[in-house]
Amino acid sequence: MKKKKKIFEGRSKKIYTLEDTDQLVQEFKDEAVAFEVTKPHQVKGRGIINKDISVYLFEYLEGFHIPTHLIKDLGGREMLIRRLEMIPAEIVMRNIVAGSLCARYGLEEGKELNFPIMEFYLKNDEHKDPMINQSHLVALQLAVPDEVRVIERLTSKINAVLKSFFFRRNLKLVDFKLEFGRYKNKIMLGDELSLDTLRLSHVVSETEPEKTSFRMVQPANEASYEEIKKLIFQVA
Ligand code: 5GP
Repeated sequence: MKKKKKIFEGRSKKIYTLEDTDQLVQEFKDEAVAFEVTKPHQVKGRGIINKDISVYLFEYLEGFHIPTHLIKDLGGREMLIRRLEMIPAEIVMRNIVAGSLCARYGLEEGKELNFPIMEFYLKNDEHKDPMINQSHLVALQLAVPDEVRVIERLTSKINAVLKSFFFRRNLKLVDFKLEFGRYKNKIMLGDELSLDTLRLSHVVSETEPEKTSFRMVQPANEASYEEIKKLIFQVA
């Protein structure tokens, strides 16, 4: 498969065109995302592991009739994807308080929410990805109401499927970020689903003291990335 032209390079990925204009190659880099200070800047093997996890989770979601842009794993740090027309929004789903939610609302990290929170952010570096809602998406002509409903339904379903997937592996799904796009009039999940775009915590036994009952999974080096990959790939 001969890559033609690099059309995008972001903090963690590169995208290439192919002879077939309906398809692209998505390549995962080893560099870390700059916005997360708790994550390392460069971890050898990180790109390959994130690609492996993305492929694994996309295939798992397809098994639940959730359409994704994945066509196939190309090995190494690459996957073959459908060329979606991306909707410039990030959808964040949260089950446990962490990250920006703590500072924004003064909530304590680790608190389990009694109902998941779905948030929308506009993808716009210049304006630091401001938070928006469903009516911004429609008013700014980023998506039509039916598409917004499909995105909400798919996001809730992905949350339910992944929550139980991780729980069976003794992990809790804290939060995650999704991006969607259109392919031949159908909304599909795009981008990636990896240790860069989701947070996990360990399931801690009830005998542990209250203070240590929340333990975030924080991959810091190649060995810890491998360890988490093994946990995810185990059949449970
Ligand atoms: P927070 O808003 O708490 O920083 O992030 C919530 C969740 O969305 C986390 O799982 C985080 O990894 C993911 N997330 C939010 N924004 C981005 C982003 O710009 N890039 C990536 N890779 N993940 C993001």
